[in-house]
Amino acid sequence: MQRLRLKIRGVVQGVGFRPFLYGHASRLGLIGFARNTSEGVLAEVQGPPERLREYQDAIAREGPPLCVIKEIEIREIALGTETNFRIDESRSDVGSTTYVPPDTSTCEDCLRELFDPGDRRFRYPFINCTNCGPRFTITRDLPYDRSNTTMAIFEMCVTCRREYEDPADRRFHAEPNACATCGPELTFRAPGEAEVLGEDALLAAQLTIAHGGVIAMKGVGGFHLVCDARNDSALAKLRTRKGRIDKPFALMCRDLSTAVQVVHIGDAERLLLAGSQRPIVLLEKKSRTNLSGLVAPGNQFLGVMLPYSPIHCLLLNPARSEYEHLDVLVMTSGNLSDEPIATGNSEALERLGALADAFLIHNRDIFVPCDDSVMRIANGRELPIRRSRGYAPMPVNLPFAVPQILAVGGEIKNTFCLTTDDCALMSQHIGDMENIETLEAFQRSVDQISKLFRVEPEIVACDKHPAYLSSRWAKENAGKRFPNVKNLVEVQHHHAHIASVMAENGLNSYNQVIGFAFDGTGYGDDGAIWGGEVLLADYTGFERAAHLQYFPLPGGDASIRKPYRAALSYLKHARIDWNESLACVAACTENERKLLAAQMDKNLNVVPTSSMGRLFDVVASIAGVRQTVTYEAQGAIELEAAMIGADERSYSLRIEGSSDAARGPIRIAISDLIAEVVRDVLNKVSIAEITAKFHNAVAGLIVNLSLHFRERTRLNTVALSGGCFQNVALLDRSLAGLRENGFDVITHRHVPPNDGGLALGQAVVAGFKSAK
Ligand code: ZN
Ligand code: ZN
Ligand code: FE
Repeated sequence: MQRLRLKIRGVVQGVGFRPFLYGHASRLGLIGFARNTSEGVLAEVQGPPERLREYQDAIAREGPPLCVIKEIEIREIALGTETNFRIDESRSDVGSTTYVPPDTSTCEDCLRELFDPGDRRFRYPFINCTNCGPRFTITRDLPYDRSNTTMAIFEMCVTCRREYEDPADRRFHAEPNACATCGPELTFRAPGEAEVLGEDALLAAQLTIAHGGVIAMKGVGGFHLVCDARNDSALAKLRTRKGRIDKPFALMCRDLSTAVQVVHIGDAERLLLAGSQRPIVLLEKKSRTNLSGLVAPGNQFLGVMLPYSPIHCLLLNPARSEYEHLDVLVMTSGNLSDEPIATGNSEALERLGALADAFLIHNRDIFVPCDDSVMRIANGRELPIRRSRGYAPMPVNLPFAVPQILAVGGEIKNTFCLTTDDCALMSQHIGDMENIETLEAFQRSVDQISKLFRVEPEIVACDKHPAYLSSRWAKENAGKRFPNVKNLVEVQHHHAHIASVMAENGLNSYNQVIGFAFDGTGYGDDGAIWGGEVLLADYTGFERAAHLQYFPLPGGDASIRKPYRAALSYLKHARIDWNESLACVAACTENERKLLAAQMDKNLNVVPTSSMGRLFDVVASIAGVRQTVTYEAQGAIELEAAMIGADERSYSLRIEGSSDAARGPIRIAISDLIAEVVRDVLNKVSIAEITAKFHNAVAGLIVNLSLHFRERTRLNTVALSGGCFQNVALLDRSLAGLRENGFDVITHRHVPPNDGGLALGQAVVAGFKSAK
């Protein structure tokens, strides 16, 4: 006989870990106990050595679906005298350093019960168990216990309580456990009508949707606006009301077989769609569907997700056959453009009143707002575009320990990061920090997550941009809010991007990389707008080794919304005539052209930029793909979508300057490329060919510069980060070329390459700078 003490750290509370230990111990005839502690789970098991080995194997191999084991410490101790294995309920020593799991989609067992007329939870919209249901969004405090969640107000009925207390039951300590007798319920509200509850509420919602209405529906992390994806007039109404011109809407499909009818789904995509996180997955639209063209105008990709809460499952599986046809619904965040997602009932009734015809609400409060996550598959792997519900607040593991740090992130697609030890807690998606509502949402979330995980930051990190709301907040308020803060570290935008991809790939402090940070906008050390940057970097610093040649961008933001203005400016700077037959020239009125030319000649409000994102916009504009944009990177997205099949041809991107560090960065000349695009457009070359040549040119540039810098520095690791690497066509081509040449390439899979991943990089850079 032998007795082992196991200390298990990670996401092991609130995920059915103790019942799992209990189940296997009973099966193997082991005795001992399992208990939650401030660090995770402590278990002692006793039995014959071979059985104990089997037990350890089972822990390492299986584990309950939601658990993430970070570390198991095992020690042999003196034998005990128990006669069985028990779950120790003493909670006195339950502390607070363990994690809250993310919200998880309804599991197979619960789905079976949900649609079983004989089950006591038949069609109950809040069914859940130890392996599924809301977690992060309902948690007010740790330890993760019912009294610390928004379920505290519902007292469990006798039957629910019995399940909750039985270690052999699959609802043992399922904190949100509930049933129709004791739990939350649905309410349907429409102006001038009596409220209806339960299944009738669902039927009323389905009726509204079937008649072309828009409903505001409370889900897991906030409200959605919902309508029939096949109804043009419903979509037109939603677009007008929401003030959203052509940014694609996400869809929720009844199941995989429904989704297959509207999008192409590969194996990796299938797993991601049906996985427990249930993100929105960007998938290629099928050429013939009966969806409304207004779902995603001009876009070859559709964002699709499957139902992830029982409410969604019931809405998409109506009790009456007359609503059977409602199997694909538009499901977009319940907010006005640019505002944070609505979560509270009264807040939603007020803010969404003008957007929705009716409301489907419930009385389980959402404590932490959490938008849907968005993912793509690139090279068979997950590529996060937005990391939020289902993922947050799962920590990203760091390869080293850092002090407690708050990194406030960037401006658009803001997320922040709190570190403790070797864990980086990335917040859910906050939004574009351009208005007071989003700033308030940011502050609330900083408060919630720092309180929840007991993080008292000593260091605050922010972007160098003096005008970012997040940076201003860091300078003015972070110290007031967190008295332990000793210093503030400003991190250059593109350095943060490269550090972010390094950290999530586990690179160590002595690693250095050839980093490509390609994005739209970032504040440069020289005050210019950077965005086509090659950095020889480690966590402590970087050498700007190469960048796109500076081109003048008139009027900053106006040129971002109207890429034709940037295109005209780039043409002029490259000494190419404004030929009327170019779409970008035609898009600009004669008067605007005159003003633009004068502005450039006098150099008034013209900012130099090395942005790769702008180059994508300019090429999209010259090629006639897109002249004005209503959402970020629209031109680049449509340019990527215009690609058809393989094409090896390429434009030229010349490298100017030498590889000597002392003589400053290499310049990447873009005039020739612009001239070649213009020539092709005037020669009526197809857009598919132009876009292929352009993507090949950028990928070729990455390979050439990597070879060049490997020669100079002996570095062999290439890091790819920045919003441009959301572009799978670019990513695929770059990866292929780099691997062919024997480079180790690191890319993003846990946090987004766009500014949604910036905070992670800021945190590690600040950690290292402070250590120095
Ligand atoms: Zn379940
Ligand atoms: Zn109950
Ligand atoms: Fe960026």
